[in-house]
Amino acid sequence: MPKGTVVTPSMPDPKSGFVLDTRELNRRAGTLKEVTRVAEAPDGLGIGVIGVPPGSPVDLNLRLESVVEGVLVTGTAVVQVRGNCTRCLEEVASTEEIDIQELFCYPGKDLGDDEASRIEGDLINLEPLIRDAVVLDLPFTPLCRPDCAGLCPTCGADLNADPNHAHAEPIDPRWTGLTEWTQPKTESNIKE
Ligand SMILES: [Zn+2]
Ligand SMILES: [Zn+2]
Repeated sequence: MPKGTVVTPSMPDPKSGFVLDTRELNRRAGTLKEVTRVAEAPDGLGIGVIGVPPGSPVDLNLRLESVVEGVLVTGTAVVQVRGNCTRCLEEVASTEEIDIQELFCYPGKDLGDDEASRIEGDLINLEPLIRDAVVLDLPFTPLCRPDCAGLCPTCGADLNADPNHAHAEPIDPRWTGLTEWTQPKTESNIKE
């Protein structure tokens, strides 16, 4: 790009791994293009407790199909997810496959839908779409496993590692009488 070129902030960056060039499709309905590439995850892809680490690989496997109104993008994005279990705070790591199916309309096409995704110039920016899909896909309360036992509320010990963990509880005085009553009578009791 020559020095002094003004880049409109809203224009997608053609160097971004999430930006697809549609020029090869020539705006001819029925033309297909396969795109397989690895992009770098952007910052802030996630919610507080869990998300996609910035710079981690995002595997894109996409099919671009030219249709009358624009370009239909279908395929998958595979992302690495890292976070912490909300019960025991152990690290949680997984790989999630996100389905993508979105019609990007040609600039100027009025479809009566302001929310429609647009092709900007000849470029499609997948980042907002992937961002929304990832956030929707993430669990609000990630768990290391569905039956995670969590931490002891008294001392913070990991109850997964020590399922029989317990603290000596003072015996409720109301039960003392009952305990004596249920105890089998020994010979000494009978003599009394
Ligand atoms: Zn856990
Ligand atoms: Zn404890």
